[in-house]
Amino acid sequence: MEHGKRGYWECYADNDGNNVISFGQREVRSDGRRSSESRRARMRMRQRILTGAALAALAVAIALIASKAAAPQPGAEGGAGSPQPSGVPSETDIPKKGETETIADIGDGRTVLVNAWHPLPKDYAPAAITDLMEIVAISDVSVCAADEVVSPLTKMINGAEEAGHTGLFVTSGYRTYDEQRRIYKESADKSYVQPAGCSEHQTGLAVDIMKLGVNMESFGDDPASEWLYENSWRYGFIVRYPQDKSEITGISYEPWHFRYVGKEVAKLCHEKNICLEEYAEVD
Ligand SMILES: [Zn+2]
Repeated sequence: MEHGKRGYWECYADNDGNNVISFGQREVRSDGRRSSESRRARMRMRQRILTGAALAALAVAIALIASKAAAPQPGAEGGAGSPQPSGVPSETDIPKKGETETIADIGDGRTVLVNAWHPLPKDYAPAAITDLMEIVAISDVSVCAADEVVSPLTKMINGAEEAGHTGLFVTSGYRTYDEQRRIYKESADKSYVQPAGCSEHQTGLAVDIMKLGVNMESFGDDPASEWLYENSWRYGFIVRYPQDKSEITGISYEPWHFRYVGKEVAKLCHEKNICLEEYAEVD
């Protein structure tokens, strides 16, 4: 790639809190890497995205409170946002570690199957986590993910950006068992919440991705979402809750929820159009 400038869309919130989208140019070095100056500009853009995202999140929260709507909220399935199928166990029904075979098989952490019927033990946690701040755009100062997710996630976000889909940011990543339990307890409508242990965010391998200026209901129809749907497997991620698999996963369509399983499994799931539950049966 020759040294030069490349155009990019920039989204940020202005001083009045309005989202601003402008077209700018980015320095690209002859080796294809962004110049340090460009990187600094990118970091500034990230800060603006974070500000905009925080405002967007605040607006969403206010709207939700005002309407008491049961609309799904990104990053909250297994928080809010996921109607549970009938027969899903309540938190008190979750078997304790070692008591039953329905406990999630954590033998291969990368492909661990977590759902309402295969909960994680309370003490399950990723071996190591990384704060995504300063790595990819995030909506919160404390969004973390398992270490092995960071590199492929960064590549995927950059890949989307290179394809013209800017403004993507991570709204949720690793959640502890206790955080999930708090979300569950604080949710008025339990039918939209996964009990503690039943959210794969506890693995640190799942992230929720949204796009600045696009609301949740529209995200699945956004070109960025379509790009992620078609390409996330190349980076080792799967759309964990596809539209046509709700009866198997027990979770409604969530185009924003991506689960890292590694390239090999992601490729297989994509090519065979199977979800992780189906993969676990095949495997
Ligand atoms: Zn999620």
